[in-house]
Amino acid sequence: MVKERARILVVGGGYVGMYTALRLQRKLKAELRRGEVEITVVTPDPYMTYQPFLPEAAAGSISPRHVVVPLRRVLGHCHVVIGEATSIDHAARTATVTTLASADAGRAELLGYDELVLAPGSVARALPVPGLAEYGIGFKTVEEAIGLRNHVIEQMDIASSTRDPAIRDAALTFVFVGGGYAGVEALGELEDMARYAARYYHNVRAEDMKWILVEASDRILPEVGADMGRYTVTQLRRRNIQVLLGTRLESCAGRVAVLSDGQRFPTRTVVWTAGVRPHPLLAATDLPLTDRGRLRCTAQLTVEGTAHAWGAGDAAAVPDVTAAEPGTLTAPNAQHAVRQARVLGDNLVHALRGEPLETYAHAYTGSVASLGLHKGVAQVRGRRLKGYPAWFMHRVYHLSRVPTVNRKARVLAEWILSGLFKREIVSLGSLEHPRAEFELAAGGKHLDDPKGSS
Ligand SMILES: Cc1cc2nc3c(=O)[nH]c(=O)nc-3n(C[C@H](O)[C@H](O)[C@H](O)COP(=O)(O)OP(=O)(O)OC[C@H]3O[C@@H](n4cnc5c(N)ncnc54)[C@H](O)[C@@H]3O)c2cc1C
Repeated sequence: MVKERARILVVGGGYVGMYTALRLQRKLKAELRRGEVEITVVTPDPYMTYQPFLPEAAAGSISPRHVVVPLRRVLGHCHVVIGEATSIDHAARTATVTTLASADAGRAELLGYDELVLAPGSVARALPVPGLAEYGIGFKTVEEAIGLRNHVIEQMDIASSTRDPAIRDAALTFVFVGGGYAGVEALGELEDMARYAARYYHNVRAEDMKWILVEASDRILPEVGADMGRYTVTQLRRRNIQVLLGTRLESCAGRVAVLSDGQRFPTRTVVWTAGVRPHPLLAATDLPLTDRGRLRCTAQLTVEGTAHAWGAGDAAAVPDVTAAEPGTLTAPNAQHAVRQARVLGDNLVHALRGEPLETYAHAYTGSVASLGLHKGVAQVRGRRLKGYPAWFMHRVYHLSRVPTVNRKARVLAEWILSGLFKREIVSLGSLEHPRAEFELAAGGKHLDDPKGSS
């Protein structure tokens, strides 16, 4: 029984948003039925993305639809609003939201609430590198992962069909910036896929491709520890991947990647995975932020000094009460996001019922990373694994974590099928422009080509 009727607004339908809403709808079943509580989830996409599977989706081992969880199906007792919160006035308990319909009508909607869960996650930390905005490719969404897969195969097709060595060389040069798990896994999986695909080209060999990882610090994969990071560098170099530590991308203007060590690589592919920053929506609220722009939260996942506001995940600065050093914050990763969501959901229910709140305490247990088919690296509770065992553990771990039995079954079926049959190496880049052929046939101009010449 809650003390007062409450309208709960969850901003974000990712890890924190979805798991918090799931927890709330389970714990507040009776209250929802009696109409004492209402849960609204505002998020730009009707699905939650299981981001750790994006590298495998890019490699074609998992279909894009199985990397996402349909929110309407799992959040049957919540109102799911597809839209973006553009600002929040917590003092007035309102959020300004742009939905597809309101954008068409040229106005935004005002959503009132009593309790706010703010979980918009993070965005890519893009630096002012010349050419990055024009040519850089991100790797945070399922659209980007599939777009990158299509792009890589398309580059192989370009290289195969040109007689110009400069075009061929640029097409076969792939530069990844940032050596965290997103960058390393994406590069590892895509290189592996492209190496396999090369066997079906009469004039492109795996050795013709240049794969380059650029990392500003002196190590990669800090998540798996220093030893495993060094092992990963050795493994990648053995695969002929250039790992350039202590090096920065200074420019990619004119499709030439210029590095801080003076090297220049003409390339059509610059993938930017050099870290994340808190979502800009946070700055459009009247809530307290850290100097790095994260939402200032307590270990109970309330917003510091603010009633009826909650935060967790990549967007929130949550004290790590398990750390020896005071002032340490929990890292922005899925491991914390999922667990914080559960505590946040429970605490919100406690608050509505006038009960004491729990403290979030989780000591980081380690990480697993895949470096391509049958290749991996892991460090879990001090135990280190390499190669096939690490890759196998990566799959078992993520299969146990991906939400819903439906998704687990589909992903497992895909893995089994891809083990029995050959890998998929087709590029469906034209899916991104489904009307192009019809527009040409109808005598119009190609949307992307004002001259209508292609
Ligand atoms: C490629 C990749 C691989 C990763 N692999 C791992 C891994 O192996 N292990 C690990 O622990 N972590 C991993 N992570 C990190 C992990 O995915 C994040 O830490 C986690 O998603 C954070 O959860 P979140 O809910 O804070 O943000 P998200 O899951 O990103 O959710 C944010 C949600 O808010 C929505 N949103 C954005 N703007 C608005 C708005 N204005 N209004 C409403 N909604 C909005 C977004 O669409 C999204 O649904 C990986 C990340 C990436 C990109």
